[in-house]
Amino acid sequence: MTVYIAEDFTAEEADILRRYFTNLDQPVFALVNLPEVVKGALFARYSRSPLSLRRLFLQEFVGDLDIEGDQTIDATVGLRRAEELYDRVFFEYGDDSVAQLGGVHLACEQASNLLTKVLEWGRLMAYLEQSTRYIAYDQRLGGRYRYYRDPEILSSSLGTRYIADMDRIFDSYSGLVPQMQEFFRATTPKDASDSDFAYRTAIKARALDAIRGMLPASSLSNLGIYGTGQAYEALLLRMRSHPLPESRAYADLMLTELRKVVPSFLKRVDLPDRGERTSAYLADTRDSMEAMVDSLFGDETGGVVDDDVVDLVDFDPDGEVKAVAAMLYPHTSLSETTIEARVRAMSVQDRLDVITAYVGHRENRRQRPGRAFERTDYRFDILSDYGAFRDLQRHRMLTIDWQPLSPRHGYVMPDAVRAAGVEEEFRGAMERSSALHGALMGELPEQAPYAVALAYRVRYSMQFNAREAMHMLELRTTPQGHEAYRRVCQRMHTAIAEQAGHHAIAEAMRFVDHSGEPALGRLDAERRAEERRRSRDLG
Ligand SMILES: Cc1cc2nc3c(=O)[nH]c(=O)nc-3n(C[C@H](O)[C@H](O)[C@H](O)COP(=O)(O)OP(=O)(O)OC[C@H]3O[C@@H](n4cnc5c(N)ncnc54)[C@H](O)[C@@H]3O)c2cc1C
Repeated sequence: MTVYIAEDFTAEEADILRRYFTNLDQPVFALVNLPEVVKGALFARYSRSPLSLRRLFLQEFVGDLDIEGDQTIDATVGLRRAEELYDRVFFEYGDDSVAQLGGVHLACEQASNLLTKVLEWGRLMAYLEQSTRYIAYDQRLGGRYRYYRDPEILSSSLGTRYIADMDRIFDSYSGLVPQMQEFFRATTPKDASDSDFAYRTAIKARALDAIRGMLPASSLSNLGIYGTGQAYEALLLRMRSHPLPESRAYADLMLTELRKVVPSFLKRVDLPDRGERTSAYLADTRDSMEAMVDSLFGDETGGVVDDDVVDLVDFDPDGEVKAVAAMLYPHTSLSETTIEARVRAMSVQDRLDVITAYVGHRENRRQRPGRAFERTDYRFDILSDYGAFRDLQRHRMLTIDWQPLSPRHGYVMPDAVRAAGVEEEFRGAMERSSALHGALMGELPEQAPYAVALAYRVRYSMQFNAREAMHMLELRTTPQGHEAYRRVCQRMHTAIAEQAGHHAIAEAMRFVDHSGEPALGRLDAERRAEERRRSRDLG
């Protein structure tokens, strides 16, 4: 069961929507019968719009499409013909790779921030999610603040308190939205050359960035997913074994909708002797590990820290030498052992010359050197606020794992909140969040993380090779990024150079930006976007 706030559509709207969406009254639905670019563009709008996908489609897309020919289609009843076709192919020639060949665009709306992380666990899918810097959570949905109302919490003895505490936290956040905008307007006046729109958008993004830490993990988000049948199968098996009831409820909704589009790919998910056994296996091993950790560590928690931790816990001291050998490898006919022996005998300058030639002259961060940078790995143990984790978790070309969200490691107070003189309100929200988490832990421990504000720290590990490091650290330190993950990524870069001693590899990541926090991080990006709009309109 979910507590979805359904939308009202007129008969004419429903008539159009029915051709392209697999239902009109549930939070999970697939997009069908639309050109691929339209599906992609619809999901892209999720990032900056508070509207649901079906409403966005009606408001912004229908006018530009020729939909006359689709009048007889009713996507809400499923695609029976497709099922027959896939069944034949899947069972006659079927192995798992066949299920990699058909993909589905699926929308998951009104999902909590805990659920979005479950949905985004899979690395072979593509995701787009509402942004906390464009969507102000002071706006309501169906008259209610936008946070998840878990049915078990609501029917428990803590139901009334949960609603009251969440409403108070959202009241505090809402009160600070205009105050923080006022603060940034006063401290960073508009440049005469900037348009009102670019300035207003940058101010709002900066204000929402500063207070996003007040939002609890129960905050709702809309998420677009594109994935293959096989990736959905793996996701559903995990979701059905997950301890969070919201995850299991969404798994049921997803299975129903996906079966309208790629039924054969998902036949095994709920078969008692197939998918159900795999889900049970996943649940069993998780339970065993929790019991194991209890017996080994008891109540040890690691405690509160007063600064983020970015600890490089593992690297290869020989990493640069091995990477140099890997750079030469595809250009010779020699064995790897021979090449590596030669590289070891080279002077430091000669090795640097190889790296310089291999990296070449990069004009921008999108020009990335090749796979030799995948020869060496870094593993970091990090304690940062949940907001930063939530963003970094989106990178897929790496191994990331995390611990349960709780208030036990303390929270990060943003400098801007202090400077604006609204520390007390922020602190009040943190205390309420922590107390509610404590109360929920007794009765409903799996749901307790809903109460935890994004400013609280979470511990996670990230392991990646130097090529992914280049991509991630350069992207995540750009000035338009959020200060919380910028700080983490700047410290990672320093550790690669100084602690691992991989100076040449770190140097190759020349677009890592170590500058401090800009006054209005989004302003340059808004200026560029405006320039692009202007030249498109002219052209
Ligand atoms: C300033 C900023 C704002 C952002 N705002 C939003 C937002 O509002 N909403 C949102 O949902 N996300 C947002 N993101 C996150 C972003 O969209 C990506 O999800 C995230 O950066 C991780 O993915 P990646 O493409 O960088 O690749 P990684 O997962 O780090 O992979 C590295 C590279 O592998 C390749 N790759 C990875 N996956 C695929 C794939 N499926 N197909 C082909 N190639 C692939 C690409 O070359 C990619 O660059 C934002 C990021 C930044 C920096």
